[in-house]
Amino acid sequence: MSVFSGIEPEKVFEFFEEICMIPHGSGNTRQLSDHLKAFAAERSLRVNQEPCGNIIIYKDATPGYEKSPAICLQGHMDMVCEKTSDSRHNFRKDPLPIAVMDDEVFSRNTTLGADDGIAVAMILAVLDSSELEHPALEAVFTIDEETGMEGAKLLNYDSLKARRVINLDSEDEGVFYISCAGGLRGNISLPVDMKEHTGIEYDVVISGLHGGHSGEMIDRYYANAIILMGRLLRFLQQRMKFRIIELSGGLMDNAIPREAGCHIQVSVENSTTFEQTISEFEEIIKNEYKANEKNLMIYCENLGESTARVLRNESTKRAMYLLTAVPDGVIKMCREKGQENLVQTSLNFGIMRLSEGRFTLEAGLRSSVSSEKHALSAKLKVIAEAVGAEYTEKANYPAWEYNEESELLPMLIRLYESSYGQSPVVKGIHAGLECGVIYKALKPVDIVSFGPTIKSAHTPKETLSISSTERTYRLLCDLLKELK
Ligand SMILES: [Zn+2]
Repeated sequence: MSVFSGIEPEKVFEFFEEICMIPHGSGNTRQLSDHLKAFAAERSLRVNQEPCGNIIIYKDATPGYEKSPAICLQGHMDMVCEKTSDSRHNFRKDPLPIAVMDDEVFSRNTTLGADDGIAVAMILAVLDSSELEHPALEAVFTIDEETGMEGAKLLNYDSLKARRVINLDSEDEGVFYISCAGGLRGNISLPVDMKEHTGIEYDVVISGLHGGHSGEMIDRYYANAIILMGRLLRFLQQRMKFRIIELSGGLMDNAIPREAGCHIQVSVENSTTFEQTISEFEEIIKNEYKANEKNLMIYCENLGESTARVLRNESTKRAMYLLTAVPDGVIKMCREKGQENLVQTSLNFGIMRLSEGRFTLEAGLRSSVSSEKHALSAKLKVIAEAVGAEYTEKANYPAWEYNEESELLPMLIRLYESSYGQSPVVKGIHAGLECGVIYKALKPVDIVSFGPTIKSAHTPKETLSISSTERTYRLLCDLLKELK
């Protein structure tokens, strides 16, 4: 018997259960893609299966809606595969061990993939229904959203007539998304020279910082360990000569770095002053961050005399110029009415590395206004080139810009208010969504994004609210009915 028996909306959960039985982690969506193709064929619906696996299913308008322009419903097929360390689940072949408790659906010790399987299930329920009223539908199911939005990028947009899109990849019921940031990775690579040198070696580590996602958390103004390490070296430079042996920080361009480390050599006579200078700097920084980085600490250990490869003076100067000159964090907040709390443009230096011959810094840039993203990237290029470093852009993805003329949004707000008795939250998000890729390909296009409440997505604690799914599905059906 199904874990969902007796649970409404019946069809939505029936399709969701089918999806959970088919492995569909990112990079492994072929089977689900074929399943969707068969779904369409069984119902005599026209279907396109693209070479990459993207699926587009078409359904005609219901009587009375023939004149209304087509609408696109969109979600992604793939899920993030995470499990607890004791789980023996094999994401490549096992069905998800789904369970229901009270109002929540979850998968035992694994991600549930309600992000975005519930969107796929809701769209299938609409396609399956012979009772719902709606304009012509173009249902788009993309592959590999979670690993770089590959499906949305590969989609053949000529297959779509719709210029109205409902994306169902949002996770807070009652919140409607209307814009998202675009982004790119900026990489600064400085050639450096090293030589052998002897002195007293210190290990210095800045740690205890919050970190967090560089899109969603950048407006918390948490400290960036890489930028702080740059300031520490600059502070030190004004007191004494030192040599850098190692310099590193951060793990990913899209995470605010929580830790940075440095191995430094100083002369014997400077070692006492060195330790004092580090504590002095620690006091200054702790004071700056007393409100939001209470666990910040700087660790400093004397490792004794060493002979090691160190950065030559000219290279040290250049590396420190970069660390001091680059901007970091929030650059600009939105000014549009109602969007004042949204970050418009930001960057995060997420990775710093020093190897023999090269010092590299990698930043994640984001903006909901494409021209600002490119202007910021140009600034980094100029700073890099000033000291002979190379600058390259990678993983460029477009923004979904706020559309004041949206017709879907006011309709959705009205429907929400009349059925919930309260106003929804309408906002942009300072992170990338497939909507950015779709926006760029189809503009002018009217897009809204919403979805039922999913908690702890991308972790084995992921849950989906049943009642929220029911209300959200009803809202989707009401909206389609409204589009006469
Ligand atoms: Zn998603």
